[in-house]
Amino acid sequence: MALEKARGLDQSDPLAAKRALFSIPHDTIYLDGNSLGVMSHAVNERVADVTRRQWGKDLITSWNKHGWIDLPITVGDRIGKLIGAAPGQVICCDSISINLFKVLCAALQIQSGRTQFVSTEDNFPTDLYMIQGVERLLGDRCSLTTVAEDDLIASITEETAAVVVTEVNFRTGRRLDLAKITAQAHDKGALVIVDLAHSAGAMPVTLDALGIDFAVGCTYKYLNAGPGAPAFVYVAKKWLSSDFAGALQPLFGWLGHAEPFAFSPQYTGASGIRQFLVGTPPIISLSAVDAALDAFEDVSMEAIREKSLQLMEFWLSCMGDHGLLTIMPCVSPTEGTIRGSQLSFAHDDAYAICQALIARGVVADFRAPNYLRFGFAPLYNTYEDVARAVARLSEIVYSGAYQDKAFQSRAAVT
Ligand SMILES: *Cc1c(COP(=O)(O)O)cnc(C)c1O
Repeated sequence: MALEKARGLDQSDPLAAKRALFSIPHDTIYLDGNSLGVMSHAVNERVADVTRRQWGKDLITSWNKHGWIDLPITVGDRIGKLIGAAPGQVICCDSISINLFKVLCAALQIQSGRTQFVSTEDNFPTDLYMIQGVERLLGDRCSLTTVAEDDLIASITEETAAVVVTEVNFRTGRRLDLAKITAQAHDKGALVIVDLAHSAGAMPVTLDALGIDFAVGCTYKYLNAGPGAPAFVYVAKKWLSSDFAGALQPLFGWLGHAEPFAFSPQYTGASGIRQFLVGTPPIISLSAVDAALDAFEDVSMEAIREKSLQLMEFWLSCMGDHGLLTIMPCVSPTEGTIRGSQLSFAHDDAYAICQALIARGVVADFRAPNYLRFGFAPLYNTYEDVARAVARLSEIVYSGAYQDKAFQSRAAVT
């Protein structure tokens, strides 16, 4: 019955044709696109072209001939379209962690006199670690205050240099209200730094309209650019044209220089977002980001969000039909608008259940302490995926198959 309903929903899905763009292994239901997105055929072909023809034949001339030198900017602008950023404010480079270092330092420069970063206790660890590292480096010029998500807005005061917030919580999927947070921060003279790891490619983001100061995000989750593909950093135009322009971030690398090929011994930062570039970009994986973005060309983020919400509603109704919601309660918000594109469920044996699911072709993941997490990627997940995955979950839970010893031992990556 659920399968029939699913097929009906798939037939009327306006995004249904997108799935054919991706290379999804036969017999795999992939619900982990929030950790590592699926490879598109376009990425596969582009990487082959970049290695065989561009690097392979044209060698160093490719920096000019194939536009390698501008790729961080051209790809950055394409990402900008998906996150509500006008051209010239996004660059694709480095990892989220490194880009956080850059924007944390930029924020401290702008906010001279203020030292405090406010963040959430349950933020993704790297966000907190990077602040702790800056704290260690700069001593009393930097301090970190972490609070519960519900206390975040009230904790932003005239002391705050910047709020460092991840829009969607990686464990619970809870989505914080960026408009409210930004309004409060700006009212108190604080800046806003947003981590879009679980937002970019999953839902509409409106950085310019919200007046966000800085943002970071990765490309290997919902943007499907491949393992370790470069991240992105957004800097609001106002800061790029401020007194700090050309020296906003302190990693003075040669490719962030105004004239890298003058090879001057003195650093003069490039104007604009290029100053956020440090060293030589990883062209193969940066090209993969470019190709991965093709899948988003002719579709609105609103349509993607709409399908994401419907997939999750259908998932919850299937779990309800199988009586699973009392056995493994949903720890994600029940209301879609305050949730990202994932659902998490608590169960003492979440890890083993996850392993048993993977053994049956349903790829999900586990997050400490006891969450089973499913990510929904509207460009390639179907309603049939949902019906089939919940049926397998139900079979595993009721049969106790997950108690098998094979599913108990933990690998390095969960
Ligand atoms: C996945 C993720 C990261 C990863 O950071 P990298 O430095 O790119 O490895 C950072 N923040 C959040 C919220 C994440 O979910």
